[in-house]
Amino acid sequence: MKERIYLDYNASAPLRPAARVAMLDVLNLGESALNASSVHYFGRAGRTLLEDSRRSVANLASVPPAQVIFTSGATEANNTVIQHFSRHYPQRRILVSSMEHPSVLRAAPGLVPIPATPQGLVDLGALEALLAQDGGAVLVSVMAVNNETGAIQNVSEISAIARKYGAFVHSDAVQAAGRIPVNPQEMGADFFTLSSHKIGGPQGAGALVLGLCGETPTLLFGGGQERGARAGTENLPAIAGFGAAARESLERMNHYQALGGWRDRLEREILTITPDAVIHAKNTPRVANTTLFSLPGASSETLLMALDLEGVAISNGAACSSGRVEPSHVLTAMGAGREIASSALRISLGWATKEADIDRFLAAWATVTARVKRNGPA
Ligand code: PMP
Repeated sequence: MKERIYLDYNASAPLRPAARVAMLDVLNLGESALNASSVHYFGRAGRTLLEDSRRSVANLASVPPAQVIFTSGATEANNTVIQHFSRHYPQRRILVSSMEHPSVLRAAPGLVPIPATPQGLVDLGALEALLAQDGGAVLVSVMAVNNETGAIQNVSEISAIARKYGAFVHSDAVQAAGRIPVNPQEMGADFFTLSSHKIGGPQGAGALVLGLCGETPTLLFGGGQERGARAGTENLPAIAGFGAAARESLERMNHYQALGGWRDRLEREILTITPDAVIHAKNTPRVANTTLFSLPGASSETLLMALDLEGVAISNGAACSSGRVEPSHVLTAMGAGREIASSALRISLGWATKEADIDRFLAAWATVTARVKRNGPA
């Protein structure tokens, strides 16, 4: 069996060694259960670790540490913001880009979708028209970088428009952090979402980053953890790993830019092997590690399974919990037909990717697509 290669960093990046060490350091503290809320010595040790991680995550998000609220992940952070505004401002609308992650799209009933352009950007004219409608919007939620296409949204322009109409702005920056600078002041966002496992930390940790608007969205009530903004004893090993990953991904952000050369080579050679392939959001500003493309007439599911048999792990855009492959809602929002949306594949590179992985993918692609063609479209 050939060595397996992993090119699905937008689903989960492999754990960085520094994150593993940080987690093991906490776990190896052994008999002392570090509850960061306890006043005794062990509690204080836990608190120190927690605040260390908070500083690292705050640096990644260009905010003071007090603005970072740890959560169980991005799903919780997104739900926290959307549900807060849905509950507290029931008369006003919440506008969300139609390309958002389901943890935004499904966080509350009645969210109003903002149309997308075929290039994978939020349609700014449509956004402004929605904001100008009667009743007003209280919140606009637009991700900083799309997880499927890698397209970089112009959050600062979106915020400027939203502000004219008195709306708050939330940005899911899960796929932006560590890849492009994330700065709420420059982007004009009031709330940001981050996730540990997208930057090489463990799963099950994330953060809601607060801007300076004074609102503190809260979903979980109980103990006074996270200054009352998120009740529940902190998952210290995961948060320590998140902090280490945040530190390293900020230090090595240039590495991400370098991945662009490999991504461009992938796209060139995919088009040589399969000239009818369609690369999405190709001329839109994108993060350097992501490519989303379709092979009309094929099915994502068939291609994914065939590539998996060749030892190559990629995805169909969005990893989906049930394991079932659905047509991409992002491509559908961008106006793609069913044939394109159901034949999409995403390759996402990251910190441990090697050039040999690119060679391996291209060899597997040539093998698999020759077979798919022989068998006819799935
Ligand atoms: N937002 C985006 C853009 C994502 O890609 C993901 C992960 N697929 C999430 C939110 C959810 O993150 P988590 O797994 O930390 O809940």
